[in-house]
Amino acid sequence: MSKIIVLMGAPGAGKGTQARLLQQRLGLPQISTGDMFRALGETKTPLAEEVRAIQQAGKLIPDELVIRVVEDRTAKDDCRRGYILDGFPRTAAQAEMLEELARRQLKKLSAILIDVPLQLLEKRMTGRRSCPICGEIYNLYFRPPKLDNKCDRHPEAELIQRTDDRQEKVRVRLETYERETAPLLDYYQHTGRLHRVDGLRSPEEIYGDIVKILNEEVVRTNPAN
Ligand SMILES: [Zn+2]
Repeated sequence: MSKIIVLMGAPGAGKGTQARLLQQRLGLPQISTGDMFRALGETKTPLAEEVRAIQQAGKLIPDELVIRVVEDRTAKDDCRRGYILDGFPRTAAQAEMLEELARRQLKKLSAILIDVPLQLLEKRMTGRRSCPICGEIYNLYFRPPKLDNKCDRHPEAELIQRTDDRQEKVRVRLETYERETAPLLDYYQHTGRLHRVDGLRSPEEIYGDIVKILNEEVVRTNPAN
């Protein structure tokens, strides 16, 4: 059965990797709201004109219109077998509209959270250092260099940290993620659609779990087979 996958996970939890694997192996495209609106901006359909008028007036695009844009994009042939949503839904109200869309499209919806403790993600990001000469990546917590803050092969060079990996930046990213995702997690928890996948394992193991979830639901929703 054709699928809609709402893939959730904090920055650094490996969401992009899983989306890529699902796309490569199951042929499910990743539909991101950003790409969708950019593509719409280059067309002249009535829907595109409607969106443009609201954007030009400096107003927020209402949910009812966002869902129409999602429906329009996912009616295309590449989404026939299903698709992965990125950046949508963002609120419980949007999640409810997505339920209706799934019914109209005769697709099964699964919400999957790649679960990694936030403290660990923080260490993964804030501990990251690289050698300015060879580009080798270290992590102060998980893969420290032999000498303090020096590349194993280039001890003359001090390791460097990307600005984005600094403590205060990482904190803001993770806190924003938590705040924005909490209502959605609540919604999918209450509707019984939420699947948590242990994100501490290898990408292949995580992928295996996701595929299992997708297959299990097909069995459960087709008891006659
Ligand atoms: Zn080096």
